[in-house]
Amino acid sequence: MILGPAARDARDLFAATIGGEPAGLWSAPGRVNLIGEHTDYNDGFVLPFAIDRRTYAAATRSAERRIRVASTLEAETVEVRLDELDLVFPDRREAVPEWARYPLGVASALLPERDADLPGVDVAIASDVPVGSGLSSSAAIECAVAAALDELWELDLDRIALARAGRLAENEAVGAPTGIMDQLAAMLGRADAAVFLDCRSLESEVIDLGFREQGLGTLVIDTGVTHSHATGGYRERREACEHGAAVMGVTALRDLSVDDLARAAELLDDASFRRVRHVVTENRRVLDTVEALRAHGPGTIGDLLLASHASMRDDFEISIPELDTAVETAVAAGAIGARMTGGGFGGAAIAVVPSESTKDVTDAVTEAFAASGFSAPRCFSVTPSDGARRDA
Ligand code: ADP
Ligand code: MG
Repeated sequence: MILGPAARDARDLFAATIGGEPAGLWSAPGRVNLIGEHTDYNDGFVLPFAIDRRTYAAATRSAERRIRVASTLEAETVEVRLDELDLVFPDRREAVPEWARYPLGVASALLPERDADLPGVDVAIASDVPVGSGLSSSAAIECAVAAALDELWELDLDRIALARAGRLAENEAVGAPTGIMDQLAAMLGRADAAVFLDCRSLESEVIDLGFREQGLGTLVIDTGVTHSHATGGYRERREACEHGAAVMGVTALRDLSVDDLARAAELLDDASFRRVRHVVTENRRVLDTVEALRAHGPGTIGDLLLASHASMRDDFEISIPELDTAVETAVAAGAIGARMTGGGFGGAAIAVVPSESTKDVTDAVTEAFAASGFSAPRCFSVTPSDGARRDA
């Protein structure tokens, strides 16, 4: 296999910080979520796909009982003894720099019973997934490391168990209360397909997108406005959903249907009601998108993407003017549909665009951003791609 620049960077970093040749090279992709936003932690449905941007982990076993992690994005190599991996957990989190809690949190989640014979591991990480843009560089680093440790520690876990370890790292070691969608997309993705996930049962199904045949591409419009999932609005929205479910007497908002919304409007204050309405209607839109893809192919999903964006803008209130401008302009310039993707408050929008219109859409969005006085967006195409794998 011919290795791309990020893969080579991981190997070069390995040589520079750890020395010699790694035992192997593993990678996991970022993802975009085609539709189904803030439904994952409500036990609902999502439809992400893995993208052709990946995080690589060049790794090897070591005789010393410690884990060493290095990243091209960080100056410092971080080292923790296997019997001290609980350093990444909440009460002692400050002991380890934030970025290292992603890979070390995965290691900690995978340390099954602190088996005395587990070898140490050295990992060097490089990535071409943009960080903090809503493309889930966090799941990519977690899943690349999970795939590496699964082999180096001979755990032989299935992909869902590895995804769970990634989520545990993010929730417990980093302290970001995210769901499991990103990790499952990074683990289960397939070329020209999306991963339809039931976040309650964790059942998944690969759904053909048919983008290739229809000449459709996906344009990511990265606003450059960064967000942190560990703080602020994301947590508040999550709490609002828990509150809504409690008032409605259900385990999770997944248990409500569009027919329950009239009762929700009576029982909840206006803001809580709108949060609930977003989740309930978004679940419906995911199911409708899957049905539309199966019955008619991708040409008919545009309106569902736009309705999803409107719901996030007006009901869930997680969009920002840059994202609204990106969506409106993309559609006016020829996209069949567009929406913000990811947790919100920044990050990226996606637009599904006939390939011949990609340049028009990019130019129009760039001009609209300039006219509004926003920082220039970064637009790039992504292709639905395979999930975590061993590359060398
Ligand atoms: P997103 O997942 O949308 O990119 P997050 O805030 O969830 O944004 O995760 C980004 C964080 O993940 C970074 O701030 C960093 O701590 C960590 N991270 C992701 N990729 C890498 C990498 N290649 N090297 C080091 N840390 C990384
Ligand atoms: Mg993330």
